[in-house]
Amino acid sequence: MGEHRIAAIPGDGIGPEVLDAGLKALAVLEEREPGFKLHVETFPWGSDHYRRHGRMMPDDGIERLRAFDAIYFGAVGDPGIPDHVTLWGLRLAICQGFDQYANVRPARLLPGIAGPLRDRVSGDVDWVVVRENTEGEYAGAGGRVHGGLPGEVGVDVAVFTRAGVERIMAFAFELARTRPRKLLTVVTKSNAQRHGMVMWDQIFEEMKGDYADVATDKMLVDAMTTRMVLKPETLDVIVATNLHGDILSDLAAALSGSLGIAPTANLNPGRDAPSMFEPIHGAAFDITGKGVANPIGALWTAVMMLEHLGEAGPAARLMAAIEAVTGAGDVLPADLGGSATTAEVTDAVCSRLVGG
Ligand code: ATP
Repeated sequence: MGEHRIAAIPGDGIGPEVLDAGLKALAVLEEREPGFKLHVETFPWGSDHYRRHGRMMPDDGIERLRAFDAIYFGAVGDPGIPDHVTLWGLRLAICQGFDQYANVRPARLLPGIAGPLRDRVSGDVDWVVVRENTEGEYAGAGGRVHGGLPGEVGVDVAVFTRAGVERIMAFAFELARTRPRKLLTVVTKSNAQRHGMVMWDQIFEEMKGDYADVATDKMLVDAMTTRMVLKPETLDVIVATNLHGDILSDLAAALSGSLGIAPTANLNPGRDAPSMFEPIHGAAFDITGKGVANPIGALWTAVMMLEHLGEAGPAARLMAAIEAVTGAGDVLPADLGGSATTAEVTDAVCSRLVGG
């Protein structure tokens, strides 16, 4: 049990609504856990900041965050500002600035949640997608020339380095080792992309001997989508590139019930800079301000943040409270088939924390 400094960045859309829910649950945990204390500082960065100052966060934003133990992030995006501006100006700037190379996305059918896969029960979908988070297709390498002319060209270059691939695979192998099934599946597209993706496959082959206790297999990304839907129980930990991991983890979230429940950790595993924790969903403007956003993604995200901070007890208690609420099934938000508001779901989780 200890004290931790948290930077909260609520951001745009439903980000502030769901982060409020998470911070409320964390405050309840603090009250009932002697010695566990969070010092939370909130940073009003995002699209409003961009409209006022021409940038998503101040120039010294990264330096101001560096002193924190973790960053708790809501969402960014704005209908009036191009996505690449909002994304690169804040979220990706933090991920890259702090070398948060492991994007970890658990997906699990929680108790009481039916999910879109017929006859599947809790346990059939229990995966962790490990997404490379600093290079690959989202490295930002490329360019545009001959703007506006008929011959205009836009090029995005996927950048894979041996060091980058080795470190994400080592992380995924280590994670697989801690799970009951100890299975790691590597996802590539090495039949069609014959350079970087083939290097991924090769490095995976080279490294698996060092993790003899972990079972391995490999899939092409297109076939992987089918396997996730038709044979979800055959998967455990999945390691993939930035683009593939992005897509597969959205699918994973949907298969586990809703985009509204899924959490993400952007980890700097060496801990030489803060890691960032955020729900996987975006700003969700269609429901912003209505008070109906599902807070479970942000609450589960808080669980991941607590685990990273070494607070296993409070983390387990918060996860148990979430699962008790989904399992009871009488206070569920609209995206999970219920009619409860964000506040009602949050209160239900908090009262399990107090009572449990
Ligand atoms: P991004 O590009 O930032 O990931 P997006 O536009 O792809 O965002 P979201 O903003 O995540 O997608 O929203 C996709 C859909 O899921 C929307 O219909 C939204 O209302 C719904 N949704 C997302 N998050 C939640 C939530 N927490 N609760 C309920 N519905 C949600």
